[in-house]
Amino acid sequence: MSATGQHIVIVGGGIAGLSAAWRLQNLRDESGVSYRISLYEADQHVGGKLRTEHTDGLTIEAGPDSFLSYKPAGIRLAKELGIEDRIIGTRDTGDGTFILRDGQLEPLPEGITMMVPTKLRPLLRSRLLSTRAKLRMAAEYFVPPREDDADESIGSFISRRLGREAFDHMAQPLLSGIFAGDADQLSLASTFPRLRDIERKHGGLVRGMLHQRRAAAQSDAPAAPYPPFVSFANGMGELADALEDRLTGVDVHAGLAVENISRDGAGYRLQIRNGEPVSADAVLMATPAYATAGMIDLMDGQLSALLRRIPYVSSATIALGYRAEDIAGLQSGRGFVIPHVEDRELTAVTWASNKFEGRAPEGMALLRTFVGRAGREDVVNLADDALLELVQRDLREILGITATPVVNRINRWYRAMPQYVLGHQDRLRQIDSCLVRFPGLEFLGASYHGVGIPDCIESGDQAARRAHQRLLDGLIPHVSAPASAPVSGV
Ligand SMILES: Cc1cc2nc3c(=O)[nH]c(=O)nc-3n(C[C@H](O)[C@H](O)[C@H](O)COP(=O)(O)OP(=O)(O)OC[C@H]3O[C@@H](n4cnc5c(N)ncnc54)[C@H](O)[C@@H]3O)c2cc1C
Repeated sequence: MSATGQHIVIVGGGIAGLSAAWRLQNLRDESGVSYRISLYEADQHVGGKLRTEHTDGLTIEAGPDSFLSYKPAGIRLAKELGIEDRIIGTRDTGDGTFILRDGQLEPLPEGITMMVPTKLRPLLRSRLLSTRAKLRMAAEYFVPPREDDADESIGSFISRRLGREAFDHMAQPLLSGIFAGDADQLSLASTFPRLRDIERKHGGLVRGMLHQRRAAAQSDAPAAPYPPFVSFANGMGELADALEDRLTGVDVHAGLAVENISRDGAGYRLQIRNGEPVSADAVLMATPAYATAGMIDLMDGQLSALLRRIPYVSSATIALGYRAEDIAGLQSGRGFVIPHVEDRELTAVTWASNKFEGRAPEGMALLRTFVGRAGREDVVNLADDALLELVQRDLREILGITATPVVNRINRWYRAMPQYVLGHQDRLRQIDSCLVRFPGLEFLGASYHGVGIPDCIESGDQAARRAHQRLLDGLIPHVSAPASAPVSGV
């Protein structure tokens, strides 16, 4: 069967859109059918939140600095792209993550896995929690599982199982590092379904974790080939660069935003800002849900309204490069997180040059600090000077750093973190039932089934497979010749 002349358009060139383009290119070439694949990206560069800057010998991540290796899609993609040898794991600094408690940094007790204690002695020795909270955590073993199937917030779940103090002073800041959200609003089913599964299956989290540890000890499966968090030798931007280089069979149009999408017979018509309209047989929307909503507004107001109900949070990363001698003795493992109850704007600090090899040249150290979270987003709008002052004040109070950084970079991320709030799964089901009306229209990326890089890659991969299959099955009748005039490819 030939699908010659047909056209699949991807909107958005973040990791989800790029992964979809990569998968489509491969599927098309392997299947021997020929169809056109185009990608439109509003920014001048593809990569979306994957952005690495190299300056003064420093490797500065504007957005993500690593990804989880045990979710297979990230490593798989790196292997397919031939950049597996560029993967680097976190350095073994001996001391890991710290948490601020009453103004002091306390190490996260050894044996805490997915916020659950699996080793009693380090927990009992820790000064992170009161004796009462530790006993409450240990008593999790005896807390009965919830029987009903209703969704619950991750905050309520952790408090119910491990106690509120363990939530406020340990789980909440760890969670905030991932979602920058309000854990009392985030849906357990959408953020950590595995925790609920463990509760259901084993009756409790400690029971479940101990079971897993015993099973791992008895298993003769080889040790995991990578540490849990990995990146690339030159930073996460390498992944976007490798994808862009290898998308030789895709028309990549950077700097061209899609304004709106409408039906065009059995296919779609995309209006490009300052450009000619483009016809497509299938459209893969790899843009944030609110951006997608804006583009499909005229086509389906109901679907657009559902997308707009997915909230987003703004945050900023502030990278600071210091002379190593200026901060000698003040370092603390890979970094620390700050619970909301500590009432600071700073939410987390990563010692980037401790976390990964090669992030700072000899004699320099690189920190990355985070501000902005649900309910405290105004800080992102502060002028550069005020933001730097605020961060440096917190670093002085917490770590005793009085030196001025020799390099600083501020990256503001407006409406960057989708919030999977209670009801997210219902909303996804409603979106899916609306999408039935639009064959060949796919939604992918961080807004739906996972915010992590591997989740976004997987969503791109799956959407590409569905679109390709649809073309092969001939479910999308061929649309008349594209209405587009040639647009400049990058
Ligand atoms: C500060 C920060 C740190 C993070 N750290 C990590 C981490 O360490 N590990 C991890 O796994 N995840 C991390 N994440 C999450 C992860 O980076 C994102 O969830 C992921 O990169 C999102 O990818 P995406 O392709 O879905 O969306 P995006 O990267 O947002 O891409 C969407 C693209 O669509 C484009 N676009 C929008 N509107 C239009 C339009 N009208 N026409 C054409 N194009 C358009 C945008 O310009 C953008 O390039 C972090 C996120 C942030 C903000």
